[in-house]
Amino acid sequence: MGEIPDCSRTLSGLCEDLSVGRYSSVELTEFFLARIKKHDDKLHCFISLTEERALEQAAAADEKIKSGNADALVGIPYAHKDIFCTRGVLTTCGSKMLHNFVSPYDATVTGKLNSAGMVMLGKTNMDEFAMGSSTESSYYGATSNPWAPDRVPGGSSGGSAAAVSARIAPCATGTDTGGSIRQPASFCGITGIKPTYGRVSRYGMVAYASSLDQGGVFAGSVEDCALMLGVIAGFDGRDSTSVQVDVPDYRQALRQDIKGMRVGIPAEYFGDGLDNKIKTVIEDAVACIADLGCKVVHLSLPSLELAVPAYYIIALAECSSNLARYDGVRYGYRCRDPVDLEDLYTRTRSEGFGTETKRRIMVGTYVLSAGYYDAYYLKAQKVRRRIGQDFTDALHSVDVILSPVSPTTAFKIGEKIDNPVTMYLSDVYTVAVNLAGLPALALPAGFSKGLPVGIQLIGRHFDEQKLFTLGHHYQKVTDWHRRFPKDFA
Ligand code: GLN
Repeated sequence: MGEIPDCSRTLSGLCEDLSVGRYSSVELTEFFLARIKKHDDKLHCFISLTEERALEQAAAADEKIKSGNADALVGIPYAHKDIFCTRGVLTTCGSKMLHNFVSPYDATVTGKLNSAGMVMLGKTNMDEFAMGSSTESSYYGATSNPWAPDRVPGGSSGGSAAAVSARIAPCATGTDTGGSIRQPASFCGITGIKPTYGRVSRYGMVAYASSLDQGGVFAGSVEDCALMLGVIAGFDGRDSTSVQVDVPDYRQALRQDIKGMRVGIPAEYFGDGLDNKIKTVIEDAVACIADLGCKVVHLSLPSLELAVPAYYIIALAECSSNLARYDGVRYGYRCRDPVDLEDLYTRTRSEGFGTETKRRIMVGTYVLSAGYYDAYYLKAQKVRRRIGQDFTDALHSVDVILSPVSPTTAFKIGEKIDNPVTMYLSDVYTVAVNLAGLPALALPAGFSKGLPVGIQLIGRHFDEQKLFTLGHHYQKVTDWHRRFPKDFA
């Protein structure tokens, strides 16, 4: 038996420990599985634990490490959002509709993590079909925020974010259609990256809104996110929107200088509705990066106010079309004893989908219907183009844009669930980035009344590196990312 691992260790620290034999990957995996068993009753981060498989993967990783030619993240455990298909393992997407779905194939992201020798601990809780900002719409029940158990971890990737925050997993995957990596990262006090649209393959990632969905990662620091993104990024011929752009060595980005980097602060992100304490946290972060030698530029993104309405038309239109496949015929839930085909469709969908999913399918179908298409969907597409143009213009004169992630800190479980409009408005600072297809990094920058506050760094298409460079320099002079919730020490 080797030394006992330290749950607050960075990924590169864990890799080093494995390579010098402080403990084995099997021991490290057992250590995190034990932490999950100890803490997950309170948090409910996981939908499935894959203990046996994890220990097999860890044993195989130990062989590789012994042979001396292991890649960087071999033997490192991770938590996988239950939206990524995993061969032979349940993939529910947080829905009753897929409560029995065992995928016959791996998502590209899953395959890449497997080939990198990483160890999957289990599949994490999420809003049903990734629709939500709180992880409360999961068929499997809500996840708690490790900083305050009566509060949400954010969503939709809340299980992954809470797991990393409580250090019951050292890193995790997520997906972000309108903020589902950045907002939970911010609510849970951890780091998360939503890459450029097309950077990470969507093959085998259950679709919510295909023109917006993008896979990414959570970890304890920018450096760790950079390491993990290096594993899952890259062109994939099986995803027609995957882009053929080389994946740079993201670790290289961490060593770049930030002197003279131009950082834009858009006025529209600081309007009404932004919590005052959060505003102060952002101002402190801006002062800090100015001290580091960045040039702060004040700018405007005039179409930002249109982002939430445009997003909630486009995302819901796409969801209504994507979710048409759940008909009780091919896979997933099927109602009992249907009398005819119509009954099969109607009852399967009525019984298999939750309230929020049904609401979205109905709104999406409505905005796409013949009489309303021009007024809603087409208009929203025009707005989307304008938002994209605003960002392009802004990112012409600056390298990175800095903003808050969310107007509030983590809210109470139950607080917004019955009022979809207030829930949707909480996405005001994140959805525009997806409409524009840009990369964005969320990282902890302070606290408000004991709850974590994150900042968002937005970059040019395929320029994740600058976000990593700036974020890493910020984390070298701050320690917000090292704080973690006291109950999980
Ligand atoms: N909260 C947003 C929504 O409900 C974003 C979700 C996501 O990014 N998957 O659509």
